[in-house]
Amino acid sequence: MSELPYSYDAPVSQALFDRAAAVTPGGVNSPVRAFRAVGGTPRFMVSGTGPYLTDADGREYVDLVCSWGPMILGHAHPEVIAAVQEAVARGTSFGTPGEGEVALGEEMVERIEPLEQVRLVSSGTEATMSAIRLARGFTRRTKVIKFAGCYHGHVDSLLAAAGSGVATFALPDTPGVTGAQAGDTIVLPYNDLEAVQEAFHRHPGEIACVITEASPGNMGVVPPLPGFNQGLKDACRANGALFISDEVMTGFRTSRAGWFGIDGVRPDLMTFGKVMGGGFPAAAFGGRADVMAHLAPAGPVYQAGTLSGNPVATAAGLAQLRLLDDAAYTKVNTASERIQALVSEALTKEGVAHTLQSASNMFSVFFTDRPVRDYEDAKAQESFRFTAFFHSLLANGVYLPPSSFESWFVSTAHDDRAIQRIADALPAAARAAAEATAA
Ligand SMILES: *Cc1c(COP(=O)(O)O)cnc(C)c1O
Repeated sequence: MSELPYSYDAPVSQALFDRAAAVTPGGVNSPVRAFRAVGGTPRFMVSGTGPYLTDADGREYVDLVCSWGPMILGHAHPEVIAAVQEAVARGTSFGTPGEGEVALGEEMVERIEPLEQVRLVSSGTEATMSAIRLARGFTRRTKVIKFAGCYHGHVDSLLAAAGSGVATFALPDTPGVTGAQAGDTIVLPYNDLEAVQEAFHRHPGEIACVITEASPGNMGVVPPLPGFNQGLKDACRANGALFISDEVMTGFRTSRAGWFGIDGVRPDLMTFGKVMGGGFPAAAFGGRADVMAHLAPAGPVYQAGTLSGNPVATAAGLAQLRLLDDAAYTKVNTASERIQALVSEALTKEGVAHTLQSASNMFSVFFTDRPVRDYEDAKAQESFRFTAFFHSLLANGVYLPPSSFESWFVSTAHDDRAIQRIADALPAAARAAAEATAA
């Protein structure tokens, strides 16, 4: 991508990226960080405070990624940091049960009514992988329905037509996943209940579960149409399958009780990550107690983790959740609405066709004038305009997700000053988007 028209003046990041590329494939430990979709040098960040990140070249950015969701209180929130320091000083891992993990589980169960029991793990991928295994063990069935454009981590059987990095890089499917693993996955278009009914009809007694993002954010933000999640739940119940709502992204972000707090559809199982870890690797799956009772050591379905319920991670997550009261969500939602309005205003002013979609405080911009209801719609956008938009904002100190298939994230720390800096950077970015041409 060396012929891109963007000056890059990030020599320290470039030097670090060269070092990184020598020791790790593509120079990153998670693909979407690599700027492959937009070109240029990924910025290596050295610190974060509130709504700001500072890179290795000493430049400051208003952060609209928030570590892909977790940093809902902004970076280095003093109370979260204090909780972490207190926990670290007592030791970092015991390999035994501890009170912190109980307290975090209790906080989650208290917030989300259908969440009767939880099991803590270390990543969202582990959460969805374990939930699928449990659903298969519970129902004694093999097939799984997922939706194109939904991302559930890099679980083998769930990588078919996945969102996030898989969408960004247009990988049809990935080498290393066997035909048997992919063959048990039925991929359907999102927001299409008829396709779900048809799949149940074609595979009587074979479908263990339907897994969906509670409100998808990994193909950009594409909320469920009214009645879609309820329709999934009803279809599952009618056919003896479990309904799994993946709230790794939406959980504790879209409301106090996540997306469940917004649409009220009761899943059989749910998965969590991101916000619940307070910036540390903590994730979870849980739901109906009678289903969770099948999990080892209570039941026969095996699942384990050396660092599951880690005392430092659970201290961070618990501190963060305890600060997330109604006032905090109002603050995040308001900041999100203000930024959305500014983005739309700037693009409209330059005559750039766009569709802004939101789910609570998650939002993203599609460079198309048509509503985006599924992955096919999302792919029909003019992504080259996003590339120009992204680089203009980056050059002016605003850090967006480096892909047009991702949600943008804000925090309680996005105050007037941070929002003003976004407002100042938007006109040039909108102009760049207007002037961009397809490669
Ligand atoms: C991020 C995400 C995952 C994967 O979580 P990791 O912690 O990255 O493994 C799963 N599902 C959804 C909806 C996500 O957004």
